[in-house]
Amino acid sequence: MDFFSTSKTIGILGGGQLGKMLLYSTRKWDINTHVLDPSDDAPARIACNKFIKGDLMDYQTVYDFGKNLDLITIEIENVNIQALEQLEKEGVKVYPQPYVLKNIQNKCLQKRFYNQNKLPTAHYEEFTRIDEVKDAVAKGKLSFPFVWKSASMGYDGYGVKIVRSNKELETLLDGACLIEEMVNFTHELAVIICRRAQGETVNYPVVESEFHPTSNQVEYVLCPARIDKKHADRAIEIATKVSEAYGHIGLLAVELFLTPEGEVLINEVAPRPHNSGHFSIEASYTCQFEQHLRAILNLPLGKTDSKSAGVMVNLVGSEGHTGAVHYKNIDQILAIDGVIPHIYGKKETRPNRKMGHVTIIHSEIETARKIAEQVKQTLSIISK
Ligand code: ADP
Repeated sequence: MDFFSTSKTIGILGGGQLGKMLLYSTRKWDINTHVLDPSDDAPARIACNKFIKGDLMDYQTVYDFGKNLDLITIEIENVNIQALEQLEKEGVKVYPQPYVLKNIQNKCLQKRFYNQNKLPTAHYEEFTRIDEVKDAVAKGKLSFPFVWKSASMGYDGYGVKIVRSNKELETLLDGACLIEEMVNFTHELAVIICRRAQGETVNYPVVESEFHPTSNQVEYVLCPARIDKKHADRAIEIATKVSEAYGHIGLLAVELFLTPEGEVLINEVAPRPHNSGHFSIEASYTCQFEQHLRAILNLPLGKTDSKSAGVMVNLVGSEGHTGAVHYKNIDQILAIDGVIPHIYGKKETRPNRKMGHVTIIHSEIETARKIAEQVKQTLSIISK
């Protein structure tokens, strides 16, 4: 299928920042795109050829969006799978495939998949209601601390909570969930694997994520991860096995824990461009968005080596600020060598809302990390 300068069109479900950055690559290659998103202010709106406003979870909306397209991809997992299955039956290519999305949308199904495929992950138990969890605690079958994960619709840490007491147990949402043992990890790692329709795969170097202590959101991503080669090799080996087991087409971001004993456990996966791959826009020979496009168009995959070390800093809305966004001191960080801000184009800021990111490139990872901290301290996302 030739998408270059033809009338063929790719549809993207979701118009957030990941969609917007994917469109930098479709624009570079002059590939026609349609985007579906529920928000009038979707960041991807400015870069697609046609924008359609609509509910990503609604069967008819997704079906109508897709029926005249040649290929559909996603930038968010929470989309209507039945519509995608129907479109696939009617000959529209859907990458990642609906069966992959169906499994990954639900954290319980995802965990079962790892166990069925003998892939290493933390022990867990499934529950259908929160009362059952409380009951298990009361009977001494579960003990604090443990990690609660909502089965569906969680993102950026909102569906995940470390539970240390009965008081915290009371704050959890009702519904299907899993309770996972708390992993004592030294590092949170991620590996992005990309698989082309023909089966060829490539992997990016292992990255390391540092989390904000209270919001539990990723604050920094460092490439390469500052870990021993043997642990990095193990992380790549496991991520590759997960990718083979899913048989997905396109990107798969595999989030992993590294324990003090050197064990590597899978946390979760995302079958799309991912925050842990943003460094690749400036630091890699092939950025993750172009790589995803190459894979879903069944084109040769690009080199994944880094041109330099890279650190990504997430820019989130400051506490106490809600309203029209202002990027305070952005001129100061632009004066530093190797500092590249990305502004997502969301008009309103809220505490902890992802508003942009900054990449720092430098030949030395430790220096890049220091500059990242300086960026974090200098730049703030506020409302005036
Ligand atoms: P989300 O889908 O919201 O990204 P994750 O499953 O990635 O949620 O969990 C968010 C964060 O919570 C992880 O990055 C990690 O810091 C922490 N976490 C998740 N599972 C565990 C666990 N079993 N043990 C310890 N910490 C965990």
